[in-house]
Amino acid sequence: MPLFVIQKHHAKRLHYDFRLEKDGVLVSWAIPKGPSMTTSEKRLAVAVDDHDLSYAGYEGVIPETSYGAGPVMVWDTGTYRDISPAGWEKGRIEVELSGTKLVGKFALIQMKGRGEKNWLLMKMKDGREHRQGDILQTAPDSAKTGRSLEEIQAESPTPPPCEVKE
Ligand code: MN
Repeated sequence: MPLFVIQKHHAKRLHYDFRLEKDGVLVSWAIPKGPSMTTSEKRLAVAVDDHDLSYAGYEGVIPETSYGAGPVMVWDTGTYRDISPAGWEKGRIEVELSGTKLVGKFALIQMKGRGEKNWLLMKMKDGREHRQGDILQTAPDSAKTGRSLEEIQAESPTPPPCEVKE
């Protein structure tokens, strides 16, 4: 099963980087408001450059001299099943996530005519959605180490294993 990771990253601004392992790389989107377990909450997901697979487990502080400087947390990780109705190039990606926080079916839908980099991430109705609450607030800490972003920020910078492009 391919892996997914969501990294909570406080660079210039706090955002969440959603990454799906596909064909040997991490296909990536930056989500300014983060994911939601509520079907009514559609979140802008801006496509960014693919990342090296080695970045999936990175948690630490990106040094000031590097792009994306600031703390990075493995907010959620696990595996996923690709349930897309067609190829990803068609602009509709559906995945069933098995994470520690995010579970069930999610859709990424490309917003045609608004710049091909702009997608929307939304929870699909599958009985595992939440009716209320904000998982970003109820489960803010690392899925890998249990630490908060502030605790990670307090440690010494550690260069990531590859270049980071938001
Ligand atoms: Mn980022």
